[in-house]
Amino acid sequence: MGHVFRRSSGRGWRLRQRSMALWPEWIAQLQRFEPSLSLDTSLVQIAEDHTAFERMRSLASDRGHLGLRAIPPAEIGTLWPAAQFGALQSKKDGRINPLLLQRALRLALTACTVELVPEPVEVLTRKSQGWQLNCSGGQSFHDVVVVCAALASPALIEPLGHSRPISPVLGQALTLQVTDGPSNWRGWPAVLVDQGFNLIPDGPNRLLLGATVEPGDIAGHSPLELMRSLNDRAPALLKNAEPIEQWSGLRARPVDRPAPLLEALEPGLILASGLYRNGVLLAPATAEWIANGLSSGAEQPQ
Ligand SMILES: Cc1cc2nc3c(=O)[nH]c(=O)nc-3n(C[C@H](O)[C@H](O)[C@H](O)COP(=O)(O)OP(=O)(O)OC[C@H]3O[C@@H](n4cnc5c(N)ncnc54)[C@H](O)[C@@H]3O)c2cc1C
Repeated sequence: MGHVFRRSSGRGWRLRQRSMALWPEWIAQLQRFEPSLSLDTSLVQIAEDHTAFERMRSLASDRGHLGLRAIPPAEIGTLWPAAQFGALQSKKDGRINPLLLQRALRLALTACTVELVPEPVEVLTRKSQGWQLNCSGGQSFHDVVVVCAALASPALIEPLGHSRPISPVLGQALTLQVTDGPSNWRGWPAVLVDQGFNLIPDGPNRLLLGATVEPGDIAGHSPLELMRSLNDRAPALLKNAEPIEQWSGLRARPVDRPAPLLEALEPGLILASGLYRNGVLLAPATAEWIANGLSSGAEQPQ
């Protein structure tokens, strides 16, 4: 959801625009390692009421050059009968399969001079020259450390005098077997968003449905029911679908600071964490920010 971001200025918008520009390049390069990796477009957001549709129309008229288009109610009804007020289409937003992406990144790493260490870092210590990392398997020394351990980041930097609290926000998702709807998803966007729930066609008769936003790290039961009923506006294809897989994950949300946390904390210590709900979307812009900092020596605190 890069181009449908509601704000048009500020760091959040700039990071999204940069990521959207970089993604096609990343995918082209990563396809050498995982040929089936792709950016599947488009994305359609259903308007919840007249006011929401008016906002969508205004956004579409400002961002026609980015591929945004307002879809009138009569046109969206065949795709999503519950849509009474219209929708917003973003032709260049969409979906990247995150499992294929991780496989591609791991394979790409093997072509680089990178040593992978499976143990977590237990302690990070400032030395007169550089940093010491302590893992269960031993210790190592480095000129520069990039802390990108999501929820585990605060515990690593707190003892060094940097307080950046991060809290968990749980998300649940389902894989559904659809018995009562399109099997080939022809005419469907890569992502359909209704009332904050994402619906993602995932092969014949399969639909991914997620994700909830639940503060804390314990999954409630009710969100699964809510997702299936979409506040009583679910079409038959969802009401009659069978869940065949269900999972949850924790997002890392910075406390009292905007996500993400991209900071040079002190010479040689970079924090790139707290990506909350957009760590996949913002991966290229985040990586570029780190790389630019390393190559320009900007890991000095600003
Ligand atoms: C249900 C759900 C749906 C989501 N949907 C989307 C979406 O549609 N689009 C999107 O952009 N984002 C989405 N996200 C968010 C996205 O997954 C995260 O923002 C992203 O994974 C954050 O990346 P990260 O590398 O910062 O953290 P993580 O992916 O959490 O990785 C942190 C890494 O640090 C390692 N680590 C932890 N502790 C230590 C330690 N002590 N030493 C060394 N390593 C350590 C972990 O093993 C892990 O590999 C979703 C998240 C959830 C839960």
